Amino acid sequence: MADKGLEEVPEGQIESNYDEVTDSFDSMDLKPELLRGVYAYGFERPSAIQQRAIMPVIKGSDVIAQAQSGTGKTATFSISALQKIDSNLKACQALILAPTRELAQQIQKVVVAIGDFMQVECHACIGGTNVRDDMKALQDGPQVVVGTPGRVHDMIQRRVLKTDNMKMFILDEADEMLSRGFTEQIYDIFQLLPQSTQVVLLSATMPQDVLEVTTKFMRDPVRILVKKAELTLEGIKQFYIAVEKEEWKLDTLSDLYETVTITQAVIFCNTRRKVDWLTDKMREANFTVSSMHGEMPQKERDSIMQDFRQGSSRVLISTDVWARGIDVQQVSLVINYDLPTNRENYIHRIGRSGRFGRKGVAINFVTSDDVRILRDIELYYSTQIDEMPMNVADLLS
Ligand code: ADP
Repeated sequence: MADKGLEEVPEGQIESNYDEVTDSFDSMDLKPELLRGVYAYGFERPSAIQQRAIMPVIKGSDVIAQAQSGTGKTATFSISALQKIDSNLKACQALILAPTRELAQQIQKVVVAIGDFMQVECHACIGGTNVRDDMKALQDGPQVVVGTPGRVHDMIQRRVLKTDNMKMFILDEADEMLSRGFTEQIYDIFQLLPQSTQVVLLSATMPQDVLEVTTKFMRDPVRILVKKAELTLEGIKQFYIAVEKEEWKLDTLSDLYETVTITQAVIFCNTRRKVDWLTDKMREANFTVSSMHGEMPQKERDSIMQDFRQGSSRVLISTDVWARGIDVQQVSLVINYDLPTNRENYIHRIGRSGRFGRKGVAINFVTSDDVRILRDIELYYSTQIDEMPMNVADLLS
């Protein structure tokens, strides 16, 4: 293992202490039925993070893995979890937590798809769904459970989700899970798992304070950082439009609408109210848009997601409920109608485009007051955000 101690690590990135690479799925010693599932899913070669992180997770280390959005972190932990579970044992052995219901549902589908040739059940245990149905599904002992913290905690406390056979605890979007509203719930859940449970954390962003917290519950973790050079952020062109005043954003978006609809696009606002307001305004002006935020009933959220995934809706206005993890490959444009209130979510939001090496464009609406925030983002990520050129449409088609 190479010591990267002397290399300068920019703030916001972890320092790797592991650099072994396994560059094919064949050399990972996976169960044949799992390997078959990986190939049937359409993967040919492991991505950079998969080449580095799958093996240490399978070997049983606690792992912190940081790699840019859209580079295959979901399959990293899904393949590892599927390799480690005993499909003959009808009990939960891997628990995966994600910050939003939609992300948990998406992960569940990936686990089910890759595990297609294994006798394995994976249940999505999320808020906003019928509790009885959830209890019923959990009583069957699915080997993998992926959920949001509130419902999962509830199910563990009711002793419907049993933790005796738990081998792995995986936190996707770990920095989000270990900050703000979730931390306590995560600790509560963690306390209820067997001591031997392996912990795996993944995210595109790992702020220092979160890393410090991890020392409390991880044992000598393997840390893997896929360095900038190997990431795909370069695939996402970032621009700003100087709108000067808040009141001018709406006209700016209307002018852009034709460009926006060349592709599928996500437009981010900072509050639910603003999402509703902007959606109304756009519709009044006869633009077709859909919208989603966390205050909507889950059924409605599900149907909006389905329409957007199928491409029958093409422009989605949302809050940060959409910032992390959601994978819709056709999205090649992200608009920050409002700049995000934290630096991490900037990277996560623009990462909704440019999935797995595809091209993407991010456009930031910047009022005079926002200029400083934008400069701060540029500095923090050592990236360049230029004024939007006239030919932006060419970058999308
Ligand atoms: P992340 O969690 O890092 O944001 P995802 O796990 O959602 O990224 O992966 C992004 C996209 O790349 C998904 O559509 C996924 O199916 C695809 N993908 C992941 N790994 C591979 C691979 N090895 N080969 C081809 N496509 C992959």
